[in-house]
Amino acid sequence: MIKDIYSSKKNVFSLEVFPPKKDDDFPVLFNALDEIKKLKLDFISITYGAGGSTSKRTLDIASYVQNKCNIEALAHLTCVSLDECSFCKYFGELKANQINNVLALRGDRPKDMTDEAFFNRPYKYALDLVNLIKQKSDTCIGGACYPEVHPESCNQEEDLYFLKSKVDAGIEFLLTQLFFDNTKFYNFYEQARNHGISVPISAGIMPITAPSQIHTIVELSGASIPEELKAIFTKYENNADDFKKAGIEYATKQISKLLEYGVQGIHLYTLNKADVSKAIFENLGLR
Ligand code: FAD
Repeated sequence: MIKDIYSSKKNVFSLEVFPPKKDDDFPVLFNALDEIKKLKLDFISITYGAGGSTSKRTLDIASYVQNKCNIEALAHLTCVSLDECSFCKYFGELKANQINNVLALRGDRPKDMTDEAFFNRPYKYALDLVNLIKQKSDTCIGGACYPEVHPESCNQEEDLYFLKSKVDAGIEFLLTQLFFDNTKFYNFYEQARNHGISVPISAGIMPITAPSQIHTIVELSGASIPEELKAIFTKYENNADDFKKAGIEYATKQISKLLEYGVQGIHLYTLNKADVSKAIFENLGLR
């Protein structure tokens, strides 16, 4: 289980993959995973589509990671449109596939969810999902946290209050939202510890490798962009290869500094790209 990995290692390395939209793209992801598994990774997390749209795909990939790559799989699960019956089905499948770790999330409201369904949803927050998992299984539970504050929270104090309540309910480790400014993480980490949140926290790092990501991922995540990264965007916007190299170097530098700081884990958001993951591991001297 992932909680045992955190207690036995100084630094835990993990990455996130997401299920492809089309069945035809599964072999591409499986090939990428066959490359990624050669890296010294402790676990791989697999995202869950809004409202459960990819639940079967999440399970198929988690099973591949766990049983074919022999790497601990962390299956994401969101509760915004979950009912007890779908929960039991999902957990039955996890068990049948020897997957013992779940990232318990609320998720965001799916576009097609009616007001009635949204306001009457049985599990309102990640905390409710954690309580449900604890009632029904002994799965290892992870959760999400936000160094730059969740967009629905009024401030960090409120965010940390609710974070503490979900950790107290049974979350055993946390993965952060992506960030580009390490000082945001240091501040959050210290505040979390001051609020009595003592579980391991892995820092979420996304290398920006193409100009198109600036407007999608960066703006959607709401992460602040340090001047040094802005300068990279400007300098290399018309040179795809140099942009990618500089983005990977920036992420490597971020990770090196986090390791010096004493972070317990690094969680990479490399968007199913084996070459980017490999480059980071090589730069860090971890291959
Ligand atoms: P919660 O912990 O429930 O918090 C959501 C908001 O509600 C916060 O502002 C919190 O402070 C507040 N809150 C919590 N409890 C209460 C309460 N009792 N009363 C009032 N307010 C409360 N989304 C997907 O759809 N699929 C994925 O696979 C996925 N993976 C992710 C992985 C990571 C590492 C991260 C950081 C995010 C991921 N997300 C994913 C996005 C996530 O679902 C959204 O950020 C969502 O808005 C919040 O989910 P949460 O589990 O953090 O929510």
